[in-house]
Amino acid sequence: MKPVVVVLSAPSGGGKTTIARAVLAERPDVGYSVSATTRPPRPGEQDGQAYYFLSRAEFERRRRVGEFLESAQYAGEWYGTLRSEVDRILRSGRHAVLDIEVKGARQVRAAYPPPASVSIFILPPSVAALLERLGQRGSESPDGLRRRLRRAVEEIREAARYDYVLVNDDLAGAVQAVSAIIDGSAGVPRRPADFEQRLDALARDLAQAAGNAPRGA
Ligand code: 5GP
Repeated sequence: MKPVVVVLSAPSGGGKTTIARAVLAERPDVGYSVSATTRPPRPGEQDGQAYYFLSRAEFERRRRVGEFLESAQYAGEWYGTLRSEVDRILRSGRHAVLDIEVKGARQVRAAYPPPASVSIFILPPSVAALLERLGQRGSESPDGLRRRLRRAVEEIREAARYDYVLVNDDLAGAVQAVSAIIDGSAGVPRRPADFEQRLDALARDLAQAAGNAPRGA
């Protein structure tokens, strides 16, 4: 089977990194594209594993010389997929998983139109679940949190552009679905049954949560 680029997106706290890790743990034929970012490392994040942590000047330099397949700003920081990462994984005969936000996903779909890529948007089961994950992470300032919640509203509106939309209400189920999609998707519906209502409810609850988030100093 020809290796494909697998684009995974979800609002921050949506659980896509957990899903990606689980898929990678069980499939030697899948590789993870390590992104570059200008945001500072969170506790425990290693350079070259979670991300390549770059200064703004270095990120800008690499962008100028065309090292990025895509890049986008998110919550005030730059993120980008290095062409070298994706090429390395595909050349080794493995599928390349990209955990990226929606603007970058558009750029990747343009560079690798389906069937060279498959895009999957992961919806949280509820805003409460998303807030809980963001809270557990404990690394967001009140301003950062509010920014991420506002951004999440815009992001879920993009879900309709993806090849597949999954609800992350059960980790094992979501991992299995992503794996089946990579293998050609037999049996995985492209949208959850109640897609439109679900999106509306999430957008409404997110907007409310962003409005209620505590103000920063
Ligand atoms: P975080 O700061 O929480 O690790 O990531 C913030 C957002 O940036 C997430 O939605 C994540 O998927 C996205 N992201 C991570 N790497 C990249 C990348 O290389 N390109 C783009 N466009 N987004 C990325």
